Order: sequence, then C-alpha cells, then structure tokens
Amino acid sequence: MILQVLGTAAAEGWPALFCECEACRKAREAGGNDIRRRASYQLGDTIHIDWGPDSYNSMIAFGLDYSPLRHLLVTHAHQDHWMPIELSWRRPGFSKIAAGSHLNIYGNAKVGQRLAAELEGTPEACAMSFSQIEAFGELDLGDATAVALPARHAPDQQAFIFLLAVGGSEVLIGHDTGWFADEVWEYLASRRLSYALLDCTYGTNDLREGHMGGAAVIETARRLEDLGALAEDCRVIATHFSHNCLKMHDELAEYFAAHGIEVAYDGMEVEV
Ligand SMILES: [Zn+2]
Ligand SMILES: [Zn+2]
Ligand SMILES: [Zn+2]
Repeated sequence: MILQVLGTAAAEGWPALFCECEACRKAREAGGNDIRRRASYQLGDTIHIDWGPDSYNSMIAFGLDYSPLRHLLVTHAHQDHWMPIELSWRRPGFSKIAAGSHLNIYGNAKVGQRLAAELEGTPEACAMSFSQIEAFGELDLGDATAVALPARHAPDQQAFIFLLAVGGSEVLIGHDTGWFADEVWEYLASRRLSYALLDCTYGTNDLREGHMGGAAVIETARRLEDLGALAEDCRVIATHFSHNCLKMHDELAEYFAAHGIEVAYDGMEVEV
C-alpha cells in the first residue's frame, strides 16, 4: 500500500499567503520541492490523516479520488489540520455519495466541537460520524490499525501523533509535537518502526517546545534507535516545515543527510 505525504508545511504554507521573506520568494521562483502545502497524508484508498485547507488542492495536484475514503484521523483542531467545512460538500446536492458509503472521523473533543459547529450538528446528512479518541486508544481502520499517542503541542487541547500498523509496517505520523513525553518514549520502545515522520517546523534551529527543529529530530531518531524502536531499514523523514526557518529543501536535505534522515516533500510516496 502507498502512503503519500500530501503537505509538508506549517500553518501558513510555504510560500505563505502574503509573505515577502527570502524563503517564500525563493520558493515562488523555484517551485518543485520548495512548494509546501499544509500537512495531510493519504494511506491507500480508504484512510486519510488530517483535513486542512489544502485538501482540494492536493486532490487536483496528485490526482487523488476521495470518494472511497472511509477513515479520517485528525491530529488536532488547529486550522491547518482541520477544516471541517470542506467535508460539508459531502451532503446531498453537492456530492453524489454511493449508498452505504460512510466516513468515520476520529479526533479530540475540540475536533468534534468544530465539526458539529460547522455542520450545524448534522454530520449524518453528510454520511459521516465522529468518534472522540483518547491517548493510547486503538482504532481499527480496516486496512490498518492506529494508536493515538499524546503529542506535546497545543495547551488548549490534547493533540495526537499516530502510530499506524499497515501490512508488515509500523509508521509513526509525528508532526505537531515537541519533544516526546516519557510515556510516549516508553510506548515506542515496544514498537519496531519502518517509517518515522517527525516534526521539523523550526528547520535547523534547535527548539523543541510545541514543535521541533533539526537537532531534536536527530536526537529523536538516535533515541528511538537506542530504544530498539527502529526496524533495521527504518526511514526517518523530517516534515512540517515553516518558511521562518529560511532553509530551502536542498539545504535541509544536506543538513540531515549525514544523519541518514530524509526530508519530506509534497507528493512523496512510500510503500508500506
Ligand atoms: Zn501544524
Ligand atoms: Zn515567508
Ligand atoms: Zn498545530
């Protein structure tokens, strides 16, 4: 099955909507891997992670078909990851949905509140339902299973990172978190990750509160390895970059290359 990384930017995208900084100017000129949408992922045909303002754009850019989607995991309710109005177009008159088609949405209490407010309390009319999830809760997604691990991110809500088990692979979707909490390290010590996608909002700056920068990504990879949590051929991939870090894709790739860490780009596909 293919896991596709659809967006690799922080909240305002890269180039950011109105930004005149050097990094946004360069991205507008260079295009390609320096264009970064807001974070989301597609796993196979039926599973999606986060639903931000670039869902429609990703569908067009990467030739996706969302009609078979059955499970949507939402890491947290920040606007760059959760834009429920874009699910409202599932309702009659806006989309023809096959009989029996149903989208299960999983997230924290705030994700549920924003969904209910945006849809005026009627997700059923859009053939959807919402389930609130708790830290370390396990989810059966049909083609995969997921465990919600507590992120260190938003003080006003419990954000999650997700550990997916699909085929023979374990995949950590680890954006929007600072340095992991002790119980997350403990949990991961019992796993064998084939892929670890890690938050690198701060680029090569050494910060680790709420998000992470390069040194924290490198230390996280090293600690996971020391704990025996990485499969032998595990690929560690940095993602969720802010233009404020002022490092373009090739510069980030060079910075991480010595540590065996890859840099995500929009449209990146990995086989799981
Ligand atoms: Zn984010
Ligand atoms: Zn900028
Ligand atoms: Zn966030």
